[in-house]
Amino acid sequence: MNEEFTFRLIFWIHLTFIMIFNRILPALRAKKSGIRLSPDYEAIENEGKLPFTFRVISGLLLAIAIVIYTFFPIYNIRFQFYLSSGLRWMGVIISSTSLIFWSYSQEVLDKNWSVNLKIQEEHTLVTSGPYSVMRHPIYTAMILWSTGLALYTANTFFVGFTALVILWTPLRISKEETMLIGYFGDEYKKYMEYTGRYLPKFKRDGNR
Ligand code: SAH
Repeated sequence: MNEEFTFRLIFWIHLTFIMIFNRILPALRAKKSGIRLSPDYEAIENEGKLPFTFRVISGLLLAIAIVIYTFFPIYNIRFQFYLSSGLRWMGVIISSTSLIFWSYSQEVLDKNWSVNLKIQEEHTLVTSGPYSVMRHPIYTAMILWSTGLALYTANTFFVGFTALVILWTPLRISKEETMLIGYFGDEYKKYMEYTGRYLPKFKRDGNR
């Protein structure tokens, strides 16, 4: 099988995985518990207009990239650049592993998860699983997934998308942590002390 075709296939398997495990199933679960997931004004306020706009633009860029990458190989050639096969396969491994980590983290967050920044009714502070050592495993997984994607597609569109994801994350995290401190107060501040932001922090200082 042509290697380029294999990467394209992997790309579609990844997208389908995200749609099913990180979007549709959590949305259905949330709906069952009566949780609203669509962005309301409060959620946009919580997130801030800049990160919200960033997210919409990244989504649009991804949609355009998907269409060109999949259906217009002639235009796509202009955006392709050379990367060795080894690096591209490394991208596949990074991307696939981070997808599993992403959906596992989302599973742990359970009904506290939402696309938009929200405090749900009966919101609880999750400090188990990946959240016991790091505060933003899903965002870390998103950065790794898109970096892997940029590598294995070897396509400037996806490099642009990854750059947007990397720029967006700290803006979003800052708003998210302000919101969570506002709601959980000292409990969240204490949680911040023993966990890493993007990366796990394993140092135990007996303050848990
Ligand atoms: N930043 C986290 C979660 C992303 S989903 C991550 O990267 O894994 C966004 C929602 O998760 C927000 O609306 C916020 O209310 C909720 N959230 C973030 N951290 C949480 C935690 N430790 N416990 C419970 N809810 C959390």
